[in-house]
This record gives sequence, C-alpha cells and structure tokens, in this order.
Amino acid sequence: MSKVIDGKAFAAKLRARVAEKVGKLKSQQGVVPGLAVVLVGEDPASQVYVRNKGKQTLEVGMQSFEHKLPDTTSQDKLMQLIDQLNADEAVHGILVQLPLPKQIEEEAVINHINPDKDVDGFHLNNVGRLAIGEPGIVPCTPLGCIMMLKDALGDLSGLHAVVVGRSNIVGKPMAALLLQENCTVEITHSRTRNLQEECLRADILVAAVGRPEMIKGDWVKPGATVIDVGINRIDAGDGKTRLVGDVDYDSAAKVAGKITPVPGGVGPMTIACLLHNTLQQACRINGVEMPD
Ligand code: NDP
Repeated sequence: MSKVIDGKAFAAKLRARVAEKVGKLKSQQGVVPGLAVVLVGEDPASQVYVRNKGKQTLEVGMQSFEHKLPDTTSQDKLMQLIDQLNADEAVHGILVQLPLPKQIEEEAVINHINPDKDVDGFHLNNVGRLAIGEPGIVPCTPLGCIMMLKDALGDLSGLHAVVVGRSNIVGKPMAALLLQENCTVEITHSRTRNLQEECLRADILVAAVGRPEMIKGDWVKPGATVIDVGINRIDAGDGKTRLVGDVDYDSAAKVAGKITPVPGGVGPMTIACLLHNTLQQACRINGVEMPD
C-alpha cells in the first residue's frame, strides 16, 4: 500500500508555525496581520468557506475583517469597498470570495486589489511575477501542493511532472511552481490526446480537473506521487452525498508511491497557505523580516 500524504496534519503544522510567527511579529514589531474577506451574495458553499477562513484567521492570532454584501451589489459599490480596504493599514490581505454575481466582472475586481494585498495571488501583477520567477504572491492551492511535494520528496529536480488541468487558479500556477523546482513539466487538458499515456509518464501527477475519480490506477506509473486537487460531491447511493477527488483513490493508491486523499489532502492546505500569504505580506508591507 502507498504512503498517504496527510494534508490535514501538514496544514495543522503550518498553521501552528504561522501562529508562532504572528505572536513574534506582534511582540517584536507591534504588527498584527489582518485579513479581509469579502463575500457577495448567499452562495451556501462560499458562506462555509468564508466562515472557516474567518475562524482560522482568528485562531492564528490575526485580525479578521468580514464584509458581506447582498447579491444585488453593483460593481462600483464593490470597487469602493476594495478602495477602502486597499487604503486600510490594518488590512494586509484582501480576498474576494469567488464566484461573484453575474453583474460583476471578476477580472476587474481582482485587478483592482492592491497587488501587495492580493493574498489569493490572482492579480495580473502576481500572475506575471510567478511566470517569470520573481518573488510575489503564489495562489494558495498550488502553493499548498508544492509544499507537500517538497516535504514528501525533498528535491524535485529532474522529475517528470504531469499536471492535468490548465485553469488559471490551479493548473497553470502549479505548472509554473513545478518548473521553478526544476521538474520537467507537462500540462494536459481536455484536448490532450492519449491522456492515460501522458499520465503514465509522470513521476509527479497532479490532478486538477473537476471530474470525479477520472484518473484510475492504470493511469499511474508505479511509485509515482499523486496529488489530487479535485473536490467533487457525488451521490453516495443512500440518499446522501460524499466527497471524492479527480483520482480514483482505491485503485491509484495500490500503484502510487505517495498519494493525497480526498478529503484530508490538498483541501486543508488552501486556507493554511492563505494565512501564510497574509503573514508574508504583513511583513513585506511593514518592511520587516519574517520572524524565525
Ligand atoms: P476548471 O474547471 O477551471 O478547470 C478544469 C481543467 O480540467 C481545465 O483546464 C479542463 O481543460 C481540464 N479538463 C476538463 N475535463 C477534462 C478531461 N476529460 N480530460 C482532461 N482535462 C480535462 O477547474 P479548477 O482548476 O478550478 O478546479 C479543478 C478541481 O480542483 C475541481 O474539482 C475543484 O473543485 C478543485 N479545487 C480544489 C481546491 C482546493 O482547495 N483543494 C481549490 C480549487 C479547485 P480545458 O482547459 O481544455 O477545458
């Protein structure tokens, strides 16, 4: 049986490290990192995410600012709130929960955030920095994946990495991070021919597709490390639903060397990395070193 990469435990350790550094930043520099989360509308999944983010922000000793706006909010109104948060010295990270209602243009809103406070790493400035390998803010989900990969494998140099999915929030930044770690990177997507053959070449296989259990055990090279980003809710057959990844865990775990489960793999790392990014930006904005 393969070794499970325990994202829940890894995320708890990362949050504990962040909490320790937040404590030192407060006592040594008088700086308290602050994260503002903006939720527009009543989407139930988004409400759960925002609640969890607020709770974990407070738990690590940061300030949490929640802004809940009605579904009918205009783009101008949202931009005004972003202006206010950009100017607020107590706020070091701004996260606008996606998706936004259809009257609001997501790109315009994201690019209106001060790039130094864009803790999701979606602003064009940060996207460009990642593309050319300059320090910036890295999107939370791929950042969590690369942290877990380095912890599990050590040096990633020369490994063949296959990323399934090319979205701007997961697939593309994941590929850029793997390239920075000197992997040989292959990005695949819905038009890729012989996807199974491409996946079988991977020493590191990252699945970010949004198709429940698409990647089976016979798509995985023996001994490969499999990172499953997918979160899909499927019918469990008893009137209930259950969460599964983009990888068919049972068959893939028999072949893989290391594998992340769903739930309990990549998912918990995303908020932990958001807190890490907020701490990092509180230090940068205040011109102080990250505490040891
Ligand atoms: P998107 O829908 O934006 O992108 C999906 C990608 O998968 C696209 O590039 C698409 O290709 C590709 N794809 C779709 N079908 C196939 C197929 N049959 N064969 C090969 N490639 C295919 O999704 P996201 O990147 O936003 O999310 C991916 C998954 O990760 C989802 O399950 C999502 O819920 C999860 N997720 C989890 C997070 C976490 O915190 N753990 C955070 C973010 C996402 P093409 O470009 O050609 O259309």
